[in-house]
Amino acid sequence: ASSSDAPAPTLKLLVIGDSASGKTSLIKRFCLGDFDEDLQATVGVDFTLKEVQILGLNVRVQLWDIAGQDRSGGGTMNRVYYQGACGALIVYDITRPATFDGVAKWKADLDAKVLLEDGKSLPAVLIGNKKDLEIAIVDGDFMNRYCGESGFVTWKDTSAKDPEDTEFQSAVSVLIEEIKRHC
Ligand code: GDP
Repeated sequence: ASSSDAPAPTLKLLVIGDSASGKTSLIKRFCLGDFDEDLQATVGVDFTLKEVQILGLNVRVQLWDIAGQDRSGGGTMNRVYYQGACGALIVYDITRPATFDGVAKWKADLDAKVLLEDGKSLPAVLIGNKKDLEIAIVDGDFMNRYCGESGFVTWKDTSAKDPEDTEFQSAVSVLIEEIKRHC
């Protein structure tokens, strides 16, 4: 291993998507290993840090939760919030198809407001959450095609409620690997 004194780089990852799709829950599960049935809506923007090892490197992941602002904005956020981000997780609720319609709006908002230094759009992973609630008949071919056409790195179906579910972790890993390819 390299010098353990070197500070782990911090990566700012945005977690966006329609209200009540489970963004705060996924962040809590990932960072604290915890789940609340009745989450109080947080007001304002919040972020949580977790140090992870990806590709043998220590990385401090800063997950930004838009906490409540998803309700008023209708798929848009203030540009300031996106500043300095290097990747995004766009979340919808697989039990509410309307939240999948929100995905395109969030992706467009993201691409309009923040770009990588080389002018490319930020790497983004599409997250279908609450898979514990439905025997999901996810059409993998459709999702692959959708991700290709819409510029997502990949898609993952997650459950913030299920303590055994590691798909969100794996989404974060894929995102970081993609980010590393750009820097
Ligand atoms: P946010 O508004 O996108 O941050 O959504 P929250 O994290 O506040 O979640 C909204 C509601 O959905 C809360 O009541 C959560 O307990 C619930 N929830 C979140 N993720 C899951 C999940 O994976 N499965 C189930 N069954 N409920 C979830």
